[in-house]
Amino acid sequence: MPEGHTIHALAHRLERAFGGHVVEASSPQGRFADEARRLDGEVVDVADAVGKHLFVAMGDETLHVHLGLIGSFTVISLGGLEPPPARGAVRLRLLSSAHVADLRGPITCELVDAARREQIEGKLGPDPLDPTSDPERAWSRIQLRRKAIAELLMDQTIVAGVGNVYRCEVLHRLRVNPATMGKQLSRKTWQAIWNDLSRLMPLGVAFSQILTLDDQVEQAEAMVAEGTAMAITSASTGERLGDYFERRFAVYKRAGEPCPRCSKRLRDKEIAGRRLYWCANCQKRR
Ligand SMILES: [Zn+2]
Repeated sequence: MPEGHTIHALAHRLERAFGGHVVEASSPQGRFADEARRLDGEVVDVADAVGKHLFVAMGDETLHVHLGLIGSFTVISLGGLEPPPARGAVRLRLLSSAHVADLRGPITCELVDAARREQIEGKLGPDPLDPTSDPERAWSRIQLRRKAIAELLMDQTIVAGVGNVYRCEVLHRLRVNPATMGKQLSRKTWQAIWNDLSRLMPLGVAFSQILTLDDQVEQAEAMVAEGTAMAITSASTGERLGDYFERRFAVYKRAGEPCPRCSKRLRDKEIAGRRLYWCANCQKRR
């Protein structure tokens, strides 16, 4: 499932491609035909994301999309060419003179009003990608729960936008025992988790890929600071995103391999419906 950084990056891409432009909207698949007619001819105003929810404001309408497990929303620059024919089940196509965006397989695709948007946002925990969101809101829930922190981190009502890769990698980075119940977790550890997510996830947005290893994180941060990341951010369009850095993780999908920190064998287990990867030897912190 796309994690929050993917949806935030998508919002930026959509806004860069279509912001201020009139779009033609259609539903080649037909399932969103009535709504597409309402969007057709509108100007794209703002695209933004809260957790894994995407909102695109167009005229008086707001499009709400959740990609779910298999959805995709590709934005392609036409480069002066005719738009390609819609391939597969395209729920919604947005077309301007310079770009085309095709939405396929979302779990949610609907038009919402302000009240409905507020309701959706109200159910979500704070988003580490939103600098104004308050980690205390998450802490107030976590400290009451008898569920493992590895499970709580995947609960969008507690923290919005975190998916399986960030969950596994951040717990390992901070040496946190993933089985620690919310009630047992120290406030200091929660603050460290939040700080690390708030540090790593913006790099995920900038490079359209999850970066969690210190060497890659440091290089990415330097590129953001000196402005060279911008070129990569704005060039990431189409279907192949985020291949600037080699795809490497410390624990994710590495069960059975040695822990990069202590060399003990990494383990895996199903938790919160997704496979957790961790090191039972060096992740003991509560
Ligand atoms: Zn280890």
